[in-house]
Amino acid sequence: MGLVVQKYGGSSVADAEGIKRVAKRVVEAKQNGHQVVVVVSAMGDTTDELIDLAEQVSPMPAGRELDMLLTAGERISMALLAMAIKNLGHNAQSFTGSQAGVITDSVHNKARIIDVTPGRIRASVDDGNIAIVAGFQGVSQQGKNITTLGRGGSDTTAVALAAALDAEVCEIYTDVDGVFTADPRVVKKARKIDWISTGDMLELAASGSKVLLHRCVEYARRYNIPIHVRSSFSGLPGTWVSSEPIQRGGKKVEQALISGVAHDTSEAKVTVVGVPDKPGEAASIFRTIADAEINIDMVVQNVSAASTGLTDISFTLPKTEGRKAIDALEKNKGAIGFESLRYDDQIGKISLVGAGMKTNPGVTADFFTALSDAGVNIELISTSEIRISVVTRKDDVDGAVRAVHTAFGLDSDSDEAVVYGGTGR
Ligand code: ASP
Ligand code: MG
Repeated sequence: MGLVVQKYGGSSVADAEGIKRVAKRVVEAKQNGHQVVVVVSAMGDTTDELIDLAEQVSPMPAGRELDMLLTAGERISMALLAMAIKNLGHNAQSFTGSQAGVITDSVHNKARIIDVTPGRIRASVDDGNIAIVAGFQGVSQQGKNITTLGRGGSDTTAVALAAALDAEVCEIYTDVDGVFTADPRVVKKARKIDWISTGDMLELAASGSKVLLHRCVEYARRYNIPIHVRSSFSGLPGTWVSSEPIQRGGKKVEQALISGVAHDTSEAKVTVVGVPDKPGEAASIFRTIADAEINIDMVVQNVSAASTGLTDISFTLPKTEGRKAIDALEKNKGAIGFESLRYDDQIGKISLVGAGMKTNPGVTADFFTALSDAGVNIELISTSEIRISVVTRKDDVDGAVRAVHTAFGLDSDSDEAVVYGGTGR
């Protein structure tokens, strides 16, 4: 039997009881004959609490020091878990990200992994230990500073280690039973998905589904690592995320027409009002945004009013980048040439995802019908081959998600979606 990487999120290791429960699970995997590498997140809301603390001593904490502080959260979990495992009579050793060979670029607070050299981890498991690795952190190749990978980055650590160690599977343990057809916190009748293609999972993650981070799924796709998302609170099988369908009872699980409905209320909408309708205008607006290093999501240009020759251009972006975008556009107002800016952070996005929509006419029509039946007004629309997204009022989002979920026959017969832990913070 091969090596497995298991990752436990903050809600799974929220307190001493949780850590002891996780220790038992880890030991079970070892007793089943696997070599086991475990990646842990910080306990409960520790990361948020550390950020709050930093902001109390400095309104804009230095990136390097913030990383130094935040990585302490995962070090607490890794040491405690190693102790709990030893207490069960098994050998365990904990390692920081840097010791585990997680090498990153130098961008503090959202570093990217550029290499993984897990020599010490390999040696530790070959010696019969269970290796415990602090998630979400690494060390920069240039400068050897401690870095973090961005919020939720432990999943990426786990997949990256799984790839570097050629693991059989990367198991991501969380506080729900797997990937659901919608957020079970919003849709009680959301259904657990047995298997989802990496492509559909990438779109769901990009559209606001929080169960797996986009970067982590990207990594899994690049290195072809199967992910098994499951609960550390129940013994149930979870969701397999892989390029090829899994086998169940001797037959392949079918690709669903629609994989799920995702929503996102973390974005805002900027409207550039009164833009001359001539070549080069959109280019200079989005060059300004790009130069400020802001990623945008949807873009819509209205037809111009014939009488004025002016048009409006709207785009969405993360709320956290709103201020920066407005400032950058205002600064270039003269050069770009527009009348005014409007900023709206009371929006939400609903997305329907599924590779099956490529070959099924009518999905778009059914989606819009469901929204209209629910009385939801649509402000922006964007599509890809396997996704339709709309922007609506933020207050309409939950109702819209439920309506679309029902309309596409995704509701389960029972209320099987259980949220075991976590404050959702
Ligand atoms: N503890 C970090 C966070 O809360 C990393 C993680 O949980 O994956 O974002
Ligand atoms: Mg966390």
